[in-house]
Amino acid sequence: MDLIPLTPNAYQLRGGSNAGLILHDGRAVLVDTGLDKDTAKKILRHIDALKVQLVAVVITHAHADHFGGAATIRARTGAPVYAAGVEAAVVAHPILEPLYLFSGAAPAAELRHKFTLAEACPVTEGLGTGDQVLGGVPFTVIPARGHAPDQMMVAGGDVCFVADAVFAPEVLHKHGIPFYVDVDQTAATLAALPNLDGHYAAFVPGHGPAVSQIAPWAAENAVCLASIRAAVSASLAETGDVARLVQLTARRLGVTIPNPVIYWLTQTTVLACLSSLQAAGKASVGIGENELRWAARAY
Ligand SMILES: [Zn+2]
Repeated sequence: MDLIPLTPNAYQLRGGSNAGLILHDGRAVLVDTGLDKDTAKKILRHIDALKVQLVAVVITHAHADHFGGAATIRARTGAPVYAAGVEAAVVAHPILEPLYLFSGAAPAAELRHKFTLAEACPVTEGLGTGDQVLGGVPFTVIPARGHAPDQMMVAGGDVCFVADAVFAPEVLHKHGIPFYVDVDQTAATLAALPNLDGHYAAFVPGHGPAVSQIAPWAAENAVCLASIRAAVSASLAETGDVARLVQLTARRLGVTIPNPVIYWLTQTTVLACLSSLQAAGKASVGIGENELRWAARAY
């Protein structure tokens, strides 16, 4: 975790998953915590070096790589950890993440790694949206649903921490098929992002470097999202089987799925496209001979 000053009152903590600090009068709010105990310790060393008091931690969304360090930070500082809605439930009960990736069944061993199973952390709920103050530090909470059910962006010190509402182009192209739980909410979040340009000096994504304008990334992400949904829709003309839909969609997009964990993440995005297509009246689901069949027509 490298400490990168962005404005007089905001820092990016640059790592595999970014975190951030919003400062006010010698106090700090930490946005996300990185993957694990080691990143948490590095963050605490940076906070010590800045000679500020940590008054609260805000989790943008409960993916293990963004909140895995929360338990350590809370144990060592006593700072309350805030998260919203479904995200708060996962921070308190991290087994929910591998559980939902595995259809609610006891998760396979591959999903019990720290990248998808974080350490549990007591969480404080009730953080609203809009302007907030915690421990004297003012900041703004902006909903950004789609990549996670109740993801939020956090802005303060003239910097907006946009979490995984948008992916840096290099991250977008590396993943090929990013993780989305709701593609319609993601599209709405991406459509709203350009309105933030001009309001903040910098934007910090969940992964990758900070930028001064978010609209170009939002546009590129929207194109990618639409192409994934279109690829699922086109694949539906060839098959109604989810496993085959994952395969055909990946092939259409030129994506190679490297391991089972990425497979389950990709499958979630394909399922999110199917429910979006169903909501738009373009897909339906039914059963035939004990086989679950999706179709591009009404059953
Ligand atoms: Zn995420």
